[in-house]
Amino acid sequence: MADFVGAIDQGTTSTRFMIFDRGGNEVGKHQLEHKQYLPQAGWVEHNPLEIWERTSAVIRTALAQSKLQASDLAAVGITNQRETTVVWDRRTGRPYYNAIVWQDTRTDRIASALDRDGRGDTIRRKAGLPPATYFSGGKIQWILENVEGVREAAQRGDALFGNTDAWTLWYLTGGSDGGVHITDVTNASRTMLMNLETLDWDDELLSFFDIPRSMLPEIRPSSDPSLYGTTRAGGPFAGEVPLPATLGDQQAATVGQVCFSPGEAKNTYGTGNFMLLNTGTELVRSKSGLLTTVCYQFGDQPAVYALEGSIAVTGSAIQWLRDQLGIISGAAQSESLARQVEDNGGMYFVPAFSGLFAPYWRSDARGVIVGLSRYNTNAHLARAALEAICYQSRDVVEAMEKDSGVALEFLKVDGGITANKLCMQLQADILGVPVSKPVVAETTALGAAYAAGLAVGFWQNTDQLREQWHEDQRWEPTWSDEQREEGYKGWKKAVERTLNWVEV
Ligand code: ADP
Repeated sequence: MADFVGAIDQGTTSTRFMIFDRGGNEVGKHQLEHKQYLPQAGWVEHNPLEIWERTSAVIRTALAQSKLQASDLAAVGITNQRETTVVWDRRTGRPYYNAIVWQDTRTDRIASALDRDGRGDTIRRKAGLPPATYFSGGKIQWILENVEGVREAAQRGDALFGNTDAWTLWYLTGGSDGGVHITDVTNASRTMLMNLETLDWDDELLSFFDIPRSMLPEIRPSSDPSLYGTTRAGGPFAGEVPLPATLGDQQAATVGQVCFSPGEAKNTYGTGNFMLLNTGTELVRSKSGLLTTVCYQFGDQPAVYALEGSIAVTGSAIQWLRDQLGIISGAAQSESLARQVEDNGGMYFVPAFSGLFAPYWRSDARGVIVGLSRYNTNAHLARAALEAICYQSRDVVEAMEKDSGVALEFLKVDGGITANKLCMQLQADILGVPVSKPVVAETTALGAAYAAGLAVGFWQNTDQLREQWHEDQRWEPTWSDEQREEGYKGWKKAVERTLNWVEV
């Protein structure tokens, strides 16, 4: 049997291909960024064909660099930026429009209309989601209504919808020459179109957005021993590899962090932040502004659900300091700059660039920097940006504690920003609990590899995977309770200032 498992991680800023051995250790990796298109305020797009080119390139390069080939891989899993919406022509493989990215707010009118006539409550009940620009349903509706010819193509059965998992899978399995059109339960649970109980597309929900069922992929378990398909010999793998697994990136990270028991949680720090709490096979409905979502479904076992706190802007606020303000030349410099000061100097930065997600769900919010005096410098702003990442996570932890009645004792973290040691120390200080990072920080790709490996018997069960989790670093809280509560009060006041800023 082959000795390795591969994982494609199609993220918001970049695409990686990673190869893992049986111990869950990384043996190969290649990563490439793709372009972010920002054509208007609030709009964020990607070019799906560029994403497919990058995906092919990272697979080829990682295999070549590690001197491996298709026959060395027992399976390949896919994980992806969730919600980002692609609609393409099944005859040509060409997208009708750029991918509309999860952060894009152009559908704010579609989303707010849902809450004016009761449809919003049906979406909350059936899909576990508050109506928001974030999810795919409104984005598909926007393409159907605004891109010429797409509605007719959809009625003919030529237009296909997918998130970037389905898009990638379709191309890997042959594209217009027999590609499969499949997604998994976790991705489908982010569309506002899937019923969380039946795990199938829901006709009433589809009717809210006027989306024909024929556009939608088949929904399968996240880890499926009957395989979605195999890679085509003519594609980037240059051989046939089983494709049995897909998970949305945050669910994949939850699997990679081996949060397999109810009550276990992880927080991922990337473009945005996403905290998921495993609630087992029970569907827990949030009263505090969290999402109910599918965590994973392995083979014929029942689906496992999660409560999720999604934060739109964390790492992308660091990118904003770099690209729009030019006060740092790279993300890592946010740490050295912020270390020049002892504290935030009274300054708070709420980066509500895409409105506010969990636990507020206010698309009328926009970013603010408050508490300024002449004393403040770039260093305070960098520090306030790092604190904003941590305070937004504190808002989510408070909501999770309210919903679950259980106090967090320990937080497992991963994602790009965990390289920032100051930010992780601030997180421990602001939450008042230890923060712990595993040796394999690429938990998203690892989770997709785990799901793929479980499907083909490369790994036997989740207990085996648990034994592969090892702590790399831990940060202990150092602030007094008084300092912590004082800081949080300032944050809450700053959040108040972001609300009712735009009309939607
Ligand atoms: P994604 O998977 O969402 O594309 P990553 O996990 O690769 O994101 O993280 C990238 C994000 O993390 C970027 O937004 C970047 O600005 C931020 N980032 C990366 N390194 C650091 C750092 N040392 N300090 C602060 N932010 C960082």
